[in-house]
Amino acid sequence: TSTLSGKTALVTGSSRGIGRATALGLAREGALAAVHYGRDKQAAQQTVDLIEKDGGRAFAVGAELGTPGAVDQLFHQLEAGLREHADETVLDILVNNAAATTPAGSVPEEVSAEQIDEIFAVNAKAPFLLVQRALGLIPDGGRIINISSAVTRMAEPSQVVYAMSKGALDQLTLHFARHLAPRHITVNSVLPGLTDNGSAVFQMPGAREQMSQLSAFKRLGEPEEVANVVVFLATDRSRWITGASLDATGGSLLG
Ligand code: NDP
Repeated sequence: TSTLSGKTALVTGSSRGIGRATALGLAREGALAAVHYGRDKQAAQQTVDLIEKDGGRAFAVGAELGTPGAVDQLFHQLEAGLREHADETVLDILVNNAAATTPAGSVPEEVSAEQIDEIFAVNAKAPFLLVQRALGLIPDGGRIINISSAVTRMAEPSQVVYAMSKGALDQLTLHFARHLAPRHITVNSVLPGLTDNGSAVFQMPGAREQMSQLSAFKRLGEPEEVANVVVFLATDRSRWITGASLDATGGSLLG
């Protein structure tokens, strides 16, 4: 069944990883997907190609979040793409997925003020501005889904700034859920645990083995497994859930 046919969706950072799987999942349910990327246009085009091969519809939009004018740039392309592929500029589903991460092995004592600004700009400020800007396009019954992280619930000192920024993102979920309820727009967070996004660190056997221990199932998550939760939140079936954080960690927080 195509639970999202006739709907449109923007997934930030869907050139790869969880974002790509999410754009694929939403398109598989019938949504027209705007595939956003920061730097890797080619990878975004690959996502679009994968969706089309799968019988879905998509187009790419590029903007480096955290830089001046990025949100305007993104919406300019989004509106043009919607006009071309869907006639009207309605956005039913916004998924704030793009994020900047702290380099592995960083210690809190060595984080610079500039790094803090950059991470907050991409992970917290940009999603706020995207929601604010999207509200003009989101109809009653729309969906906003913010991709947070399990590190908001589990101490990991090397990720303190990243976790702070995701904590801020969860506040966006909480307060906008109340604000948008009169319009039946739901706002929720999804908390992935360690998920194999294809990057090098997840391919190193030793590191992979060690990271797998975190989940109760003793393996890494797959992007599709997180995407499935996002797709559920995007559908009408989730209409009674708002302001919530859904755990997509494979039991990593069970203790
Ligand atoms: P990836 O690192 O695989 O992909 C990141 C995506 O975000 C890319 O599409 C990238 O686009 C985009 N992006 C990054 N920075 C910017 C920017 N400044 N402007 C625009 N786009 C940007 O991410 P994951 O799939 O691993 O993660 C997806 C989400 O899940 C993130 O919010 C992350 O914090 C969260 N998460 C991931 C976990 C994991 O283990 N993988 C664990 C917990 C949470 P491009 O390359 O084109 O610039």
